[in-house]
Amino acid sequence: MCYRNRTEAKDLPVQWEWRANPDQWIPYDLASASELEDAYQQNKPVCKPAKGYFSAISYRYEVHFNYATRRFVQYNLSTGGTRRVRRMANDDNSILQPVAFSELNQDDTCAICLDTFADPSTTAADQHAAKLPACHGHYFHRCCVAAVIKLRDECPMCKKKVEY
Ligand SMILES: [Zn+2]
Ligand SMILES: [Zn+2]
Repeated sequence: MCYRNRTEAKDLPVQWEWRANPDQWIPYDLASASELEDAYQQNKPVCKPAKGYFSAISYRYEVHFNYATRRFVQYNLSTGGTRRVRRMANDDNSILQPVAFSELNQDDTCAICLDTFADPSTTAADQHAAKLPACHGHYFHRCCVAAVIKLRDECPMCKKKVEY
């Protein structure tokens, strides 16, 4: 699997990645990612990916989803090895935590694009305000912060790490 699609994939509404090492997440190819997303949407406990990268080795891997803890793990059935898996999605409220409009001050701006927040009843969901779990005091439009944390697991302002 190669790294080339990392930046190409950053604008997708949903992206699935596996952790190669503590600092590096690598996106699944689109075919594998859509299999994982289908299984996730159906609340399946296990996905045995068989498309894309996995088409030649479909017997070898399973991804287990624990929805309560949001811990997703890929198992290599021949070696016993495991990899953490994460879902990066604009609709994920556990990472992009919604901020109520009433919590914001009128002059609060998105820390990325510096624009203000409109009344959420008048704007699309990806324009609503969100914050990251580890950081306090930085607000973003969902779409602005979603694009940024797909590239780097931290608040772009205070550098507080987002843990998966
Ligand atoms: Zn913004
Ligand atoms: Zn921050």
